[in-house]
Parts: sequence; structure tokens; C-alpha cells
Amino acid sequence: MPTGRDPPRPYTLRGRPNRPIETDVSVALNHPVTHPAYLGLLADGELRRRAERARELMRDCVLCGRHCHVDRLKSLRGSACRTGERVAVASFGPHHGEENVLRGSHGSGAIFFAGCNLHCVFCQNADISQNRAGSEVEAEELASMMLVLEERGCHNVNLVSPSHAIAQILAAVAIAAARGLRLPLVYNSGGYDSLEGLALLDGVVDVYMPDMKYGDSKTARAYSRVRNYVAVNRAAVLEMHRQVGTLVLDENGIAVRGLLVRHLVLPGGLANSGQVFRFLAEDVSSDTWVNVMDQYRPAWRAAAFPPLDRAIRSDEYERALGLARRYGLHRLDSSRDRWC
Ligand code: SF4
Repeated sequence: MPTGRDPPRPYTLRGRPNRPIETDVSVALNHPVTHPAYLGLLADGELRRRAERARELMRDCVLCGRHCHVDRLKSLRGSACRTGERVAVASFGPHHGEENVLRGSHGSGAIFFAGCNLHCVFCQNADISQNRAGSEVEAEELASMMLVLEERGCHNVNLVSPSHAIAQILAAVAIAAARGLRLPLVYNSGGYDSLEGLALLDGVVDVYMPDMKYGDSKTARAYSRVRNYVAVNRAAVLEMHRQVGTLVLDENGIAVRGLLVRHLVLPGGLANSGQVFRFLAEDVSSDTWVNVMDQYRPAWRAAAFPPLDRAIRSDEYERALGLARRYGLHRLDSSRDRWC
């Protein structure tokens, strides 16, 4: 589960929109604000082809950084995400706990997927990510959720923990876009994404918001049960940046395109924050928008893994922030003032 706040209060699909299919996207394509990336792939059917290719990849799954190589359409055995043909959604609705550039005045339109490709011992949403509390949905229902979020005035569709749901997301976006969806798509992941999965999202996702959880793979193995996190995570972030560039805001200060990285400071320096910031500044861009997060609290199994059994101290947070500045990162998210 990517770093963040609690899920929004659940919405239902009661009275869900049944919009007619729109065939003319030319007006939206010429409009800078209502031109999400995926519209460019809608008209010639490429969105649907991407969804089909993603479904095919589920047969020998490499859709996320785990590279399980299992046939998810036949069996869940051996799949770290335990998610088959249909993905489960835990909740969806306007979310006012995200960064200012996402939540704006009407909230970020969050869809919380159940299940996760990471198994962090300190997960704050373990019921959703590990116990997979949620309801399985068809692509039509997922598309309807996106349209409901748009009708509620949300500024974007915020796909939370999407790495194992790429095929289902693409299928839903193809339906929703044909029915008039015009919100930017935010891909809000734990940062353990594969290049194969990201290639399918090229030209579909507007804003990438990955975590960079660790600067050291041994720590990632110990606390999130993944191999080679740093190499996988860095390759993913570089690819995301190649696709969308640094973060661009509209005239109201809302993110419309680009990369936003989250880094949660862990107690005892476990996140190795300096390594993360150095990579971002030197190998990605010192203009990268970074949210250095101070919200760590012990959750789920963290009590058994000191020093994860305590909150971070203010001096630990200030030290991490100082490192970010020292490496030259200057677009540091200021939303934390309103979270504390
Ligand atoms: S999405 Fe990731 S965790 Fe799930 S089966 Fe595919 S490679 Fe494994």
C-alpha cells in the first residue's frame, strides 16, 4: 500500500451515471485542462488494445516489480498480490487527506484497491492491503466509479495501490473515457512497479505518485518482504519521469501532469533518506516534487520490529528534510502543515 492517509468514507454506485458513449474527443484534445493523457489513445482504439495486452500479461504475470510469472487468470498460487481476473475495491470517494496539489477544494477522487504487491510490516491499511477487504468489481463498475468521482467534482482519479490492477484499470479507463471521463489519472503506488507494467501506462497516466520507501534493499527485504527494491524502484521512477516529466500545476495549483514522489521518514533512519534524495536530485531532477512525510506511526506488525515500534522524533524528520535540501531538492511539498 502506498504511503498516505486513511481511505475516504465509502461511496456506493447507487444512481451511477449511465452516460452515452462520446465519439468526438476533438474539443477536449484542444483544451489544456480537460485533456488527460488517455484521450490521445482513445480514438484509434489503442486504449482497448493496451487493456488486452495487459490481460495477456496476466498469464505470465510481470505487471509489477515482483515478476511472479504466474497465470493469474487460472490460479492465484504463487502470486504475491493474490488478485485474479477481477480486482477488489475497498472504497472510493473524494479524499481530502492528500497533498494540496491533488485534493484542491473538492478532493482527490480516490479508488482504494484491495491487495498489494508489498507486505510492509508497518502498513497503516493492512486490512485492505494484506487482508484484501473489499468487493470484486467488473471493468464497467470500476469505470462507473471514475465517472461518479468526476460528477462529485473531484480534481482527479487517484488510483491507490494500482500496481497489481493495471489490466483492470486500463479496461475501465477505456470504458470511462468513451463515456466522457476527462479527469487526470493519478497512479499512486508503493513504487515497486515493473517496466512492462509502466510501458502499458505510457500515454495513459497523467500524474505518477510513487513512494520511494527505502534507500537500501536489505531494509526493504526485512520490512516490506521484497527483493531488490532499490533497483526496481529507481528504474520505475526514472521511467515515470521519462513519461510525464516534472510536476505541472494548473492555474489553480492542481497537479495536471508529472511526477510527485513520496518519501516516508522512518524511525532510526531506516528509510535511508539521504540515498533516496541524492538519487532524485542527481539522476532524476532537482526539480522533482517531493513530499517528505512525517506521519509515521507504528501500525499492523510494527510493534515487533523496533525501532519501527515508535513514531519518528521531530529531530529525525528535520534531519531528513535538511538532507533533501542539501542535495538540492527545492520543490518540497508543504501540505504537512495542514496534516499536523
Ligand atoms: S501483479 Fe505483481 S504481485 Fe501480482 S502476480 Fe503480477 S507480478 Fe505478482
